[in-house]
Amino acid sequence: MSVKIEKKIKGYAVVTPEDKAKALAGDAVPRAVVEAELPSADVIQMHERIERPEVLIGSTYKIKSPLFEHALYVTINDIVLNAGSEHEQRRPFEIFINSKNMDHFQWIVALTRIMSAVFRKGGDVTFLVDEMKAVFDPKGGYFKAGGVYMPSLVAELGSIVEDHLKSIGLMHDPEMSAAQRSLIAEKRAAYEQRSKKNNEMSPGLGGAMASPPPHAADEDIEVTGEGASFPPSATMCHKCNTQAVVIMDGCATCLNCGYSKCG
Ligand SMILES: [Zn+2]
Repeated sequence: MSVKIEKKIKGYAVVTPEDKAKALAGDAVPRAVVEAELPSADVIQMHERIERPEVLIGSTYKIKSPLFEHALYVTINDIVLNAGSEHEQRRPFEIFINSKNMDHFQWIVALTRIMSAVFRKGGDVTFLVDEMKAVFDPKGGYFKAGGVYMPSLVAELGSIVEDHLKSIGLMHDPEMSAAQRSLIAEKRAAYEQRSKKNNEMSPGLGGAMASPPPHAADEDIEVTGEGASFPPSATMCHKCNTQAVVIMDGCATCLNCGYSKCG
């Protein structure tokens, strides 16, 4: 909600649940209604005064980037709030990065300390993912296995935080409609079919047949448990940052997200 202000701001305060209760009480709303609207007092929310428990659970992720000689190990530890109750929530609490390579360590230490502080402040921390994924390395970034383009090391860190937040249920994949999913499946199947046909046709027998474009020959798309791997000749999709764009029926089509130049 945006509020237009026509005077200078001389001071401000955030409306607290108590203020709301007072305002409601002023309008003579029954007490039961007020209480129902207040968050119940024994639900613990994340805030910076929550002390670190002795033991935290977490995950360590490995980054192997061509920009670094040694791998980076990213550990994100989580705190579980309101354990065992219906308000149980797992949230990130701290992040560390370890590596043999100490070249950039002052920046890495600074970044992880600030990220940990953001985690412990509470509230929505998912904005970190968007901020970090939008960092571009002036040297041009690099490709990860599977053809996913990483514009920088910071962006890869952002995508690790994203994976982690998804794994603990704080972030969710944008809903892909059933129609879009079946469209992608259809395009993949059509592409596979076509490359199979090209493979079966031996060059000597092709006389009367109209020859399909040769570039699609002996390329396969395998759909694995992790997702799909795409034909080696595929080019970069600017929508999903994956090397999965092929030419189908004269039209650039992404076999990963379904993006098509021709709509
Ligand atoms: Zn795409």
